[in-house]
Amino acid sequence: MKKHAAIIGSGVSGIACSIWLAKMGYEVDVYDKNEHPGGKLSEWRMGGYRFDMGPSLFTLPDMIGNLFDLCEVPSEEYFTSKQLDIVCRYFYADGTLINAFRDPDRFAQEVESKTGEPAEHVRRFLRHSRDLYNITNKVFIFSAFHQIKNILTRDAFLALFSAWKLEPFTTMHRSNSRRFNDQRIIQLFDRYATYNGSNPYVAPATLNVIAHLEHNLGAFFPEKGMYQIIESLVSLSDKMGVRFFMNSPVTSVVLNGKKVTGLVSNGIEKAYDIIISGIDIYTLYRQLLPEKLAPRRLWKTERSSSALIFYWGINKAFPEMDLHNILFSENYRDEFDHIYKKKIIYSDPTVYIFISSKVVKEDAPAGGENWFVMINTPVNHGQDWDGLIRSARQDIIRKINRMLGTDIEKFIEHEHVLDPVAIERNTGSAHGAIYGTSSNSPFAAFLRHPNRRKRIRGLYFTGGSVHPGGGIPLCLASAAIVAETIMNDEK
Ligand SMILES: Cc1cc2nc3c(=O)[nH]c(=O)nc-3n(C[C@H](O)[C@H](O)[C@H](O)COP(=O)(O)OP(=O)(O)OC[C@H]3O[C@@H](n4cnc5c(N)ncnc54)[C@H](O)[C@@H]3O)c2cc1C
Repeated sequence: MKKHAAIIGSGVSGIACSIWLAKMGYEVDVYDKNEHPGGKLSEWRMGGYRFDMGPSLFTLPDMIGNLFDLCEVPSEEYFTSKQLDIVCRYFYADGTLINAFRDPDRFAQEVESKTGEPAEHVRRFLRHSRDLYNITNKVFIFSAFHQIKNILTRDAFLALFSAWKLEPFTTMHRSNSRRFNDQRIIQLFDRYATYNGSNPYVAPATLNVIAHLEHNLGAFFPEKGMYQIIESLVSLSDKMGVRFFMNSPVTSVVLNGKKVTGLVSNGIEKAYDIIISGIDIYTLYRQLLPEKLAPRRLWKTERSSSALIFYWGINKAFPEMDLHNILFSENYRDEFDHIYKKKIIYSDPTVYIFISSKVVKEDAPAGGENWFVMINTPVNHGQDWDGLIRSARQDIIRKINRMLGTDIEKFIEHEHVLDPVAIERNTGSAHGAIYGTSSNSPFAAFLRHPNRRKRIRGLYFTGGSVHPGGGIPLCLASAAIVAETIMNDEK
C-alpha cells in the first residue's frame, strides 16, 4: 500500500518536495493557507501590468530542469530561461555606471575602465569565489551536514583542510577591502551579503561564494517571468499525482509520543505517515507544534533582513535601465547599521529596481514598464511602518530623480506596496524575514535548523528558514536533502 505524505506550504521548496516524494512512490498532499501556490515567489497583476512579487535574481536553472529529468518529463515544454548578457547595472551617486557583463573578462575590463580598479583584481576575486564554491558546495549546500555520516566524508575533510581559504572569521567587507582599492567595487561585491539577507560588515567572508553563482555560472531569467518557476513545478506535481489543498491552513501537527501521525487543517484531522514542513521554522514551532519541542538556540538566531517593495506601473520606457538595476547608497555601512542595529529605514537606501518587462514584453502595456522598486529593511518588530513607508517612498523617489535625472512620480499610474508586515501575513515568515535566518555569524550554517530531528520521528523540514538557507537554489537543495534523508530513513 502507498505511504501518505503531507507537505505544509506550497513555497518553492514544498512543491519541489512534493515532486520528489511522488517520484519515490508516496501519495502526496500539499496544504497551503493561501489561494495560490508559490509563497514568497508569487505574482501581482494590476492595470495591465504583471509583477513578480518576490524573487527576481535567478541562478542555477538546471536545478529546475533536474526535477523534470527526475520525473522523465521534458522540461522545455514547461520551463525555459535565458542567460542574461548583463547581470546587473550599477548606478553610483557620483554618476559612475557599471555594467556587470556576463563575460567575466568583459566585466573586469568595464570595472577597470570605469573606476581604475585593475581588471586582474576582479578576475582574481572571481577565481577565489569559484574556489569557495568548489570547497563548500558539496558539504554546506547540497548535503545534510548535520548528519554525522556527511561530516565524515572526503569533501568535508577537504573543506576542513581548506578552512583558511573560507575566511570564516574575517568579515566580507574586510576581505573585499583587502582585495580591491576602489570603494565602489568593494560596495559592489559587499552587496552579495544581501542575497541571503545578511550584513557584509558582520557576515563572514565565506559569503563571497555567492558572487560565483552570478558571475561565473551565470544569471538567468525565465522566459515568462519568475512565477513561471512555480507554474511549471505545479504542473509537474500535478502530472505526478500530487494533490493541492489551497485555502487550507494547517493549525497543528499531530504527534503520538515522539512520532508524527497527522495534521489538522480546516478543523479536520488527517492521518499521514510523514509530514514535511515547508513553512518558516519559527512559525512551525510557535503555532503548529508544542513550542517546548523547539531547539532552544532557535530563538537566539538572528532573522535575515526584510524588504519594502513598491510595485509601480510606469507609463514610460527608460532605455537607460536594464532588467536588474542598483542605485547604491553613499554610505553603505550606515545603511546596514540602520537595518540591523537601529532597526529603522535609512534615508539614503540602496534602491534595487527590477523591470521584468525588459525581457517579458507582455508584463507591461506598450510604451510602459513594470518597476519593482525594493529596499532592504529591518524585520518587523512593531515599528511604525506607515510612517517609515511614507518617508521611504519620498526618499526613494528623490533618489531616483536625482540619479536618473527624471521626475518618476508623474509616470507612476498604478502602485502596490509590500512591507515586512505583509510579507509575514502573506507567507507566515516570522517578522517578515525574507531569507529565514541571517548569516551574520561564522557559525550561522551550523546553527541553522536541520532538515530532520531525531526526537520528532516522521517530521522533516524544508525551505528558506532551515538548512541550507534562503533563496531559490538553496530551497531546491533543501527539498533534495529531505528526499534523500527520507530514502535513508526508509532503509
Ligand atoms: C521580496 C523578496 C525578494 C526575494 N528575492 C530573491 C531573489 O532575488 N532570489 C532568490 O533566490 N530568492 C529571493 N527571495 C527569497 C525566496 O523567495 C525564498 O527563499 C523562497 O521563495 C522561500 O521558499 P520556501 O519554500 O521557503 O517557502 P515560502 O515561500 O516561505 O512559502 C511558505 C508557504 O507556506 C504557507 N504557509 C505558512 N503557514 C502555513 C500554514 N500554517 N498552513 C499552510 N500553509 C502555510 C504560506 O502561505 C506560503 O505559501 C526573496 C524573497 C522576498 C520576499
